Amino acid sequence: MSFWDIPGMKAGVITGDLAWALLKHAKDKGYAIPGFNVTSTSSINAVLEAGKKLNRPVMIQFSEGGSAFFAGKALPNDKKQASILGAVAGAHYTRHVAPGYGIPVITHSDHCAKKLLPWYDGMLEADEAFFKQWGEPLFSSHMLDLSEENDAENIAICAKYFKRMAAINQILEMEIGVTGGVEDGVDNSGVAKDKLYSTPEDVWAVYQGLSPISEKYTIAASFGNVHGVYKPGNVVLRPDLLDGFQKYAAGKLNNGETKPYFFVFHGGSGSEKEDIDKAVSYGVVKMNVDTDTQWAYWEGILKFYKAKEGYLQGQLGNPEGEGKPNKSFYDPRKWIREAEVAMCKRVEESCADLKNKN
Ligand SMILES: [Zn+2]
Repeated sequence: MSFWDIPGMKAGVITGDLAWALLKHAKDKGYAIPGFNVTSTSSINAVLEAGKKLNRPVMIQFSEGGSAFFAGKALPNDKKQASILGAVAGAHYTRHVAPGYGIPVITHSDHCAKKLLPWYDGMLEADEAFFKQWGEPLFSSHMLDLSEENDAENIAICAKYFKRMAAINQILEMEIGVTGGVEDGVDNSGVAKDKLYSTPEDVWAVYQGLSPISEKYTIAASFGNVHGVYKPGNVVLRPDLLDGFQKYAAGKLNNGETKPYFFVFHGGSGSEKEDIDKAVSYGVVKMNVDTDTQWAYWEGILKFYKAKEGYLQGQLGNPEGEGKPNKSFYDPRKWIREAEVAMCKRVEESCADLKNKN
């Protein structure tokens, strides 16, 4: 059964029961949907273009910093007002164009630590207003990252927000334990190694805290994953831990459900394909992709510049003659397009890694 056979499946942004049905389908069929961080309409288009080419669903996600960039670096952001504006504008933009690409799209906001909650509040207000008008939230889902707090506080704050989100049929992604590395200003590179691995009890506490509110939540548990690309060897990735978490919960629930959790893979950049395969088989339904597509976007421009260097030194004058015009080389549609093409290719690769292909 293709994801297109899910009742009600459609092109464009999907939310609520339909978005959740897609994640369930992914878990049942053994694939995951990559969530790509975007910072502009250009990077959104690159992700959608890959989805269109593959005829597969994709996730578009906005970090707090990426959202502020989306609205424009000149705007004040002391109260996260630019981040709110940018995320909301990006979600609306995606809603407008996604149907044109002919694929289902999930819109999402990335890591929100405690100090960034004003950003989250602003997005939720926009979701609630949208829900009043259209009967669904603006964003399909949001991520709360209270993993810097102790587990009890983390789960309690998630539960508080999740009640509000459940009322508008929205999905919550949360993080338990610590993902190593640096992500949007949160530096966990000095964290003790044992903190980089969640326990079955840690994850079960999340289930107990959130399941009574709604089934629509996903968990980024720690299994030695690290944000960003690092030299291998420092932390060992242990996807088998996810299998253990599922088995522990299945035993507790004893209702025939073998993989009760919906996991999210953070910090997957540079991971071995074999580890990604295992993680997906243990119930990972989404993997974040940022670092690798950032590099691809830049590399597209780098290669273009190197290939056309002689045509990019002034408005006039190139290897073909002193007065020859270079407009067709420095036109942003030329070199930004090169970035998009390279990013699109990398997005396709991530989709293939996660078996999000036909
Ligand atoms: Zn994370």
